[in-house]
Amino acid sequence: MHDHALPWARFNNPGYKEKVCHKCGTKHTTTKTRPVCNDCYKTYYR
Ligand SMILES: [Zn+2]
Repeated sequence: MHDHALPWARFNNPGYKEKVCHKCGTKHTTTKTRPVCNDCYKTYYR
């Protein structure tokens, strides 16, 4: 496994607690039940 530079890949790091969208990586207030921004949520869970 190579270390890709994908923004959401940092969520694999337990020390990374920045609240950002897990899909697009944009800083956004997310929750454990919805770890993505509103736009990605509508796209994924429509
Ligand atoms: Zn998003």
